[in-house]
Amino acid sequence: MRSVKDAAFGDDVRRWALRHACEDCVFFVDERAACANGYPNAMHRAAAFEPGSQVDGTFCKEFELR
Ligand code: SF4
Repeated sequence: MRSVKDAAFGDDVRRWALRHACEDCVFFVDERAACANGYPNAMHRAAAFEPGSQVDGTFCKEFELR
């Protein structure tokens, strides 16, 4: 699911401490900044959801909270 990167989304993420990106996923391998399942993850990383990112932030269907 693609997200709308607007100020309201950023406010909600901070207000509710939402976790949705690779960095908070059990399958994220910190040492390699990679997905243990082998998925390309640039669009699922936290930075992709930041305003001004060149990548469209997209929610991952395999996300599992750490
Ligand atoms: S399963 Fe999805 S959210 Fe989790 S690390 Fe892999 S690409 Fe990122």
